[in-house]
Amino acid sequence: MGLLDTQQIKSLILDVPDFPKKGIIFKDITPIFEMPKAFSSLINELSFLIPKEITKLVAIESRGFILASGLSQKTNLPFCLVRKKGKLPRKTIKVSYDLEYGTDELYIHDSSIKSYDHVLIVDDVLATGGTAAAVEALCTNLNVSSTQSLFLLELAFLNGADKLKYNYKSLIQF
Ligand code: AMP
Repeated sequence: MGLLDTQQIKSLILDVPDFPKKGIIFKDITPIFEMPKAFSSLINELSFLIPKEITKLVAIESRGFILASGLSQKTNLPFCLVRKKGKLPRKTIKVSYDLEYGTDELYIHDSSIKSYDHVLIVDDVLATGGTAAAVEALCTNLNVSSTQSLFLLELAFLNGADKLKYNYKSLIQF
């Protein structure tokens, strides 16, 4: 099966202007999922960016789940979920973070990550960086050995990297 290269994967990502609100250009990655060859190529490319020491993938709701599950199958690394309020059934710890207006919260099962874990946070888009920075803080609170992040794409002009405390990689930059 011929795989797509990163440029071909990038060309599948659609710009949707004014979604979810005016002024935002939403990066729609769902065409990648609708083409199995593109999705396996993406998982392949992303797997090359996973540092050797990683022991746990931490997936951010909800497109991060799709990427982390593919990566878990490919690499045999376990993955766990970071979710919005009221979704996880067992004992959780939470982090609050600032939005443009107000605050939001994210949750993880407190048993999901251990202090010996070398964590890789996985999400689709690094935009302002607020979400990933909050998940970094969750991992820090769980005293993990190390934290890094991996994104399918980065909106570099939003300087989200400035909010991140630890190393990160992105496959595609806009
Ligand atoms: P942020 O906290 O600003 O870095 O936003 C990260 C989260 O919001 C990611 O989980 C993305 O799924 C989503 N997101 C933010 N901006 C966009 C965008 N322009 N296109 C698609 N998704 C976005």
